[in-house]
Amino acid sequence: MTLFEKIIARDIPADIVFEDDKALAFKDISPQAPTHILVIPKKPIPRVGEAEPEDEAILGHLLLTAQKVASDLGFNSSDKGFRLVINNGKHGGEAVPHLHVHLLSGRQMQWPPG
Ligand code: 5GP
Repeated sequence: MTLFEKIIARDIPADIVFEDDKALAFKDISPQAPTHILVIPKKPIPRVGEAEPEDEAILGHLLLTAQKVASDLGFNSSDKGFRLVINNGKHGGEAVPHLHVHLLSGRQMQWPPG
């Protein structure tokens, strides 16, 4: 069982900000911005690189869930904004093998991301 499956199961505590039947969103334990939330599918897809065609609806749902959380927090506006990041595999910087979208906001983001 991955760390994030344990968070879904409430075996490990997390600061959950949104949940529905397909997704969970919770605060990152090591925030890289004033707001740093992880949006994950309840289905244990390891990473985008291993998603299947049958996961199309879940992948779309993750983005719309991130949009909803960003909107609820007041970041989905022309004067603010947010960044979504998905790290995939070793070179992508992935640490937890359960697909997650990082939602970062609350400050000006820089580019390139490094
Ligand atoms: P990755 O590097 O795989 O894209 O992102 C994994 C993220 O999970 C990191 O930003 C890390 O801070 C976060 N994380 C790791 N362990 C925990 C934990 O136990 N609880 C929470 N809320 N976040 C965690």
